[in-house]
Parts: sequence; structure tokens; C-alpha cells
Amino acid sequence: MEEKAYDLIIAGAGPAGLTAAVYAGRYLLNALVIGELEGGMISEASEVCNFPSYESITGIELTKKLVKQVKSLGIEIKQERIIEIKKNKEFEVKTNISTYRAKKIILATGTKKRKLNIKGEKEFLGKGVSYCATCDAAFFKDKVVAVVGGSDAALTAALLLSEYAKKVYIVYRRERFFRAEPTWIKRVEENKKIEPLFNSNIKEIKGSNKVESIVLDSGEELSVDGVFIEIGLVSSTELAEQLKLELDDGYIVTDRHQRTSLPGVFAAGDITNNPLKQAITAAAQGAVAAASAYEEIKGKK
Ligand SMILES: Cc1cc2nc3c(=O)[nH]c(=O)nc-3n(C[C@H](O)[C@H](O)[C@H](O)COP(=O)(O)OP(=O)(O)OC[C@H]3O[C@@H](n4cnc5c(N)ncnc54)[C@H](O)[C@@H]3O)c2cc1C
Repeated sequence: MEEKAYDLIIAGAGPAGLTAAVYAGRYLLNALVIGELEGGMISEASEVCNFPSYESITGIELTKKLVKQVKSLGIEIKQERIIEIKKNKEFEVKTNISTYRAKKIILATGTKKRKLNIKGEKEFLGKGVSYCATCDAAFFKDKVVAVVGGSDAALTAALLLSEYAKKVYIVYRRERFFRAEPTWIKRVEENKKIEPLFNSNIKEIKGSNKVESIVLDSGEELSVDGVFIEIGLVSSTELAEQLKLELDDGYIVTDRHQRTSLPGVFAAGDITNNPLKQAITAAAQGAVAAASAYEEIKGKK
């Protein structure tokens, strides 16, 4: 089995990992990015209006620009799944394809979509149930869909879906939207195709071969063709747990140099206990992590 050695392996190809790679490239480090989904979560954003220098850009465009910048610096991105990271003399990173070695690791594996865990959710995944409006909205032209959640991600999903679907319900357990940015709330309120259903939860997703209806906790059954679940994120801590890193409520604890509790391992982005989980803060932490790793590698060269 191939076992290539690097100065630095960056686990994760979202804004944190890719920005770390840009800095590593500028420092001329022999670095590798391993990330399953190029662009990470931001690749799913239909519209990003708060990343400095872009008044408005799609998540896919932003991803393409980041990936291009990383590759222009000679850094390779491997779309592989990391299964295990072990610390011996150096770090050994095992993926579904190969094994790599590195002096330092930056963990930037972000978060995963939270599941509703209700009847029908698993059965109808890909048959009307989706966790990505950007990926699937176009399949629901002139259909009726429901979005579950009340965050920015839920509201932007509903706005995007309203461009295709004839009707979009937002099923939200609270009495009003208070978590989302006021700009998104205003746009949802002004949109005639969107109907929020407050103080509501979905109990079951029903259908035969595909989604046909949802049952609310009030007992009401609504005919829908699609259900988009946007109820938040949970951190991807499997690798952090293997390395026995200090966690805070499931998120990696770092110091201001992005060092974790294990020497040689840095962490950046949504996987950390950073209070603002956004692309810009993930990118900033990625930059700091790469600079810190560089300082330690340079010190030993
Ligand atoms: C729909 C939506 C809209 C959003 N809109 C905005 C917005 O407008 N503005 C904004 O600033 N932020 C927005 N965000 C939030 C933003 O996307 C995140 O804060 C940001 O992507 C976090 O970056 P990250 O690099 O820390 O993690 P992520 O983007 O989550 O990337 C994690 C990376 O790690 C990889 N990975 C995880 N586990 C493994 C493994 N075991 N092996 C290999 N690879 C692995 C993933 O494939 C991915 O490449 C939005 C998020 C969503 C879901």
C-alpha cells in the first residue's frame, strides 16, 4: 500500500481546510488536503452574501475559486474518506484508498447535518427527502415541498426552493423565526409562495415509492412532494475522539494558535468550539492553523 510522507496533512476540504492549504502553499510546505466534499458545507449554500469581497456568490462558485487557488499553489486535494489517524513518531493517516504520513495534522472536518430521526426519513432519502436544497431544488419544479427548521440554512433553502416549487411550507417548532438573519426573515415574509407553520413538528413522512405527505404533531396531514431537513449540524468528531483530543460539548478545544490538546495536531473551522460557525471564521482559523504548523515544522527543519 502507498505510504507517502508530507510535512502537513489537512483533513477536510471546506473553507477552513482549503484556506489552511492556501497558506501552506505560500509557505512552500509539502502539504496534502484530504477531504470528501470539495468546498465542504459552503458548497451547499445557494447564495453567500457575507464573505468579504463578494456581494453575492453561490457556494459552488466560491468553492471553485478556492479549489483553483489551492491547486495553483501546487497542493493536491484527495477526495478520500479518512478512517483513522494514529500518532506514532509521525502521524499516520489511513483513508478508504491509502495511507499517508505527516509531521503535523490540521483537523478541519467540520460538521454533519442533524437528522430528524422520524419514520420515513431514512426510507425516502433521495426519494423526496433531502438535506441539500442547492443540490436538489431543481427537481421540485411546480411541486409542493416542506422545509424543516428555522435557521439561516432553513430560510435560504425555502427561498431557493420557492424559485422552482409552487408552494413551500416551513415547519418550525418555535413561535417565530429568531435565529435567522433579519434579511432572510424579511425575504421569507415577503415571499407569497412560502408559508411558515410555527409551533409545529413533523411526526412522520409518508408515501409509497416516494414522499407523498407529512404528518404534523397536531395530527394534520399535508400533501407534499419533498421534505428538506435543515435542523442544524453536529460536529464530525470521530477523528478527534480517536486522537483523544479535549472536546467542549462535542467541539475541539484550541488555543489562539489553533493548537489542540495533542502536540502536532491543530484544528480549524466548524469542528472547533468557535462561537461563530461561518465560512469567514473557518477560513481565518485555517490560516492561523497553517501558520502555527509552519512555525513548528520550520523550527525542526
Ligand atoms: C446551506 C448552508 C448555507 C450556508 N450559508 C453560509 C453563508 O452564507 N455564509 C457563511 O459564512 N457560512 C454559511 N454556511 C456555513 C458554512 O458553510 C460553514 O461555516 C463552513 O463551511 C465551515 O467550514 P469548515 O471548513 O470548518 O467545515 P465544512 O465546510 O463542514 O467542511 C468539512 C470538510 O471535511 C470533510 N470531512 C469530514 N469528515 C471527513 C473524513 N472523515 N474524511 C475526509 N473528509 C472529511 C468534508 O467532506 C468537508 O470537505 C452555510 C452552511 C450551510 C449548510
